Amino acid sequence: APRILSGMQPTSDSLHLGNYLGALVNWVKLQDEFDAYYFVADLHALTVPTDPAVLRDRTRKTAAQFIAGGVDPERSALFCQSHVTEHAELGWVMNCLTGFGEASRMTQFKDKTAKGQNANVGLFTYPMLMAADILMYDAAYVPVGEDQRQHLEITRDLAERFNTRFGEGGLVVPEPYIVKGSAKIQDLQDPTSKMSKTGSSPKGLIDLMQDPAKIAKNIRSAVTDTEAEVRYDVENKPGVSNLLVIHSVLSGTRIEELERAFAGRGYGDLKKEVADVVVDALTPFQKRMAELLDDPAELDRILASGADRARVVAQATMARVRDLVGLVPAA
Ligand code: ATP
Ligand code: MG
Repeated sequence: APRILSGMQPTSDSLHLGNYLGALVNWVKLQDEFDAYYFVADLHALTVPTDPAVLRDRTRKTAAQFIAGGVDPERSALFCQSHVTEHAELGWVMNCLTGFGEASRMTQFKDKTAKGQNANVGLFTYPMLMAADILMYDAAYVPVGEDQRQHLEITRDLAERFNTRFGEGGLVVPEPYIVKGSAKIQDLQDPTSKMSKTGSSPKGLIDLMQDPAKIAKNIRSAVTDTEAEVRYDVENKPGVSNLLVIHSVLSGTRIEELERAFAGRGYGDLKKEVADVVVDALTPFQKRMAELLDDPAELDRILASGADRARVVAQATMARVRDLVGLVPAA
């Protein structure tokens, strides 16, 4: 089967609904069709200054959430990025292929620094490490959300550049894998921005691990607009549209159908129903999480065996890359 690869950063104790609907549910579906590699991007998370104990805890929690969401570590390689040290090495090679101006045009860096996130050089070179993550596994496809499209573009450019400079067949140029009907979820308090682990305020998030009463409360206080009509219109009604998307994806009801069902009813009704739909979806997930976190040794074993699988591919790629770029073999 063709190989796919995707990852998430352990930048929070909990993934949010955007991570879940925009990525995790797709990962689960794709593992039937593809040779899937899923990883916790702990090296990427170092771009956000974090207490070491907290980072360690979040890394395990993130891996557990992949499993609770349905990633099957028997079928898919589930691992920590830092366990496969080749990622950092290939990341360096990618840095050396990237123009400074090219890196400066990456919008994630601009968005995050504009929001006041402490900018270190690691955040600046994030797309090059991400390119390394992907190219390491000869991934044919990369399932990513809309917010990562630009990073996938630079990954493709870098792979092509590498092949032009060092020889065809060096690196596989990956295609984005946009899952049909895949949702982008917006911040509840700032519905023109995407929901983000590091960018959203606590009230802007629907965290997968949060207690149901808090989830309902956040949804009840979601920003809407001054009209009273439940209608999908991203331009003029981003808040209401976001709630409709959340409902639609989780309940499997088409948006037009929801508009009809909520005709003549207020935003309060919509919010209440969205909260119910979200809480119903998350109840089994939270139950599974509690079991997984109860057995951290088992979780570490799963991650170790996933890293063993990933390392086999990564070492082969790095041997090829080292040779092609002209590094002298160690022995
Ligand atoms: P951070 O703020 O630390 O960047 P994040 O919320 O953007 O966190 P990532 O770990 O960067 O999450 O991304 C993990 C996956 O979730 C990626 O595939 C990304 O496309 C997807 N994703 C992130 N936010 C959303 C969102 N709001 N809607 C849909 N998908 C999303
Ligand atoms: Mg992100």
